Amino acid sequence: MNFSDSEIVASILEEEGYVSTKEIKDADVIFVNTCSIRDHAEQKIRKRLEYMQSLKRRNSRLVIGMLGCMAERLKTQLLEEEQVLDLIAGPDSYRDLPRLMAEVQSGRKAINTLLSIDETYADISPVRYDSNGISAFISIMRGCENYCAYCVVPYVRGQERSRDAASIALEAETLFHKGFREVTLLGQNVNSYTWTSNGVKTNFARLLEKVAVMNPLLRIRFATSHPKDLSDELLQTIARYNNICKAIHLPVQSGSTRILEKMNRGYTRDQYLDRIYAIRKYLPDCAISTDIIAGFCDETEEDHKETLSLMEQVAFDYAFMFRYSERPDTLAAERYPDNVPSEVKDRRLREIIDLQQKLSYQSNKQDAGKTFEVLIEGFSKRSDAYFSGRNSQNKVVIFPVTGNKPGDYIRVKIDRFTSATLIGEAC
Ligand code: SAH
Ligand code: SF4
Repeated sequence: MNFSDSEIVASILEEEGYVSTKEIKDADVIFVNTCSIRDHAEQKIRKRLEYMQSLKRRNSRLVIGMLGCMAERLKTQLLEEEQVLDLIAGPDSYRDLPRLMAEVQSGRKAINTLLSIDETYADISPVRYDSNGISAFISIMRGCENYCAYCVVPYVRGQERSRDAASIALEAETLFHKGFREVTLLGQNVNSYTWTSNGVKTNFARLLEKVAVMNPLLRIRFATSHPKDLSDELLQTIARYNNICKAIHLPVQSGSTRILEKMNRGYTRDQYLDRIYAIRKYLPDCAISTDIIAGFCDETEEDHKETLSLMEQVAFDYAFMFRYSERPDTLAAERYPDNVPSEVKDRRLREIIDLQQKLSYQSNKQDAGKTFEVLIEGFSKRSDAYFSGRNSQNKVVIFPVTGNKPGDYIRVKIDRFTSATLIGEAC
């Protein structure tokens, strides 16, 4: 999400005549796009600012700005705490950057952290940063109103709003004509996407279809789906189109209904499992990944075991796993003590990671001997003798270079694997 926002910011600044540099020491302006999701993310940014202070000592004209969620969360407090900052802009203020920069040029510190109810940057065509020229992100909605008890997102990214469906389809089409072959539609809760134009309502399933029918050679991915909104209609749409990838990221957070209730997730363990069965029914070859939090408030050993058992039951192909980090102002911070001891959180997280490693390995083992259609993204990181790409299930596939080029589809038979990669031969 932040990566996609940086591309929007780059586009706004390019219009103003700025050019980007990969060499931080050459920059006259540095914007740090920030995340507040866990305390650790914010601490890392504060460390980074210390380094920027040293750059500023060498170049007193250097302008340093903070963008994104941490800017939104801490607002003017940051200008007091981090003297190195000249400018602060929240996630809905990027169009205001030229004005904020002018304010800085005239010697003042500048700040805009107003949240909007309708800003989606729909008309801004993002600059594709660091791109492999094959895969790109398209932001389809902003904000979130789910108010999961642990989560800071609704406070720092504002109300949920969807972006004009026509502008999304146009962006996908433009990317295809530029040679891109894969788009990932992004939002905090993509399956609650909704757009009405001339009395016609487009829900997420319709939006996916609209993009999928444009060209069968354009692959479509999406993230993140919320279990409470994953409809059968959506799964049937994914099943109908070969170019809608068979990979669903469905964060579960915990396997215990008691904890899920406390987290305000809006589903029980059984309801989550019901959605997993629906995925298996409509999309038998679909990969399922998830997010898990270890050590949320009041989590007992029993609750933790339920998370482990749910992981085994679903056999997730991949997971992002976190230890609970209390965020100021969230429902959990206001209502529940952060009472799982640090070492218990660490141990539970370790058990979750160890189990997931086994499950990922097993998932890859089951792919040995299978043949997949792979979209070639480029050379493998380790060797130019190998191409690297992904199958529909979002697994990285490595195979010896053929006469093809990045952006081509090729069938690859898998003969080896690690817990992270499938290795095979073109066939
Ligand atoms: N909108 C998505 C993901 C948002 S943030 C969703 O609802 O699933 C990505 C992940 O960060 C979350 O799924 C959650 O697992 C994790 N996360 C969010 N807040 C957290 C916190 N306070 N402590 C630890 N992990 C957190
Ligand atoms: Fe946070 Fe929940 Fe919204 Fe995801 S759905 S961004 S976890 S509040």
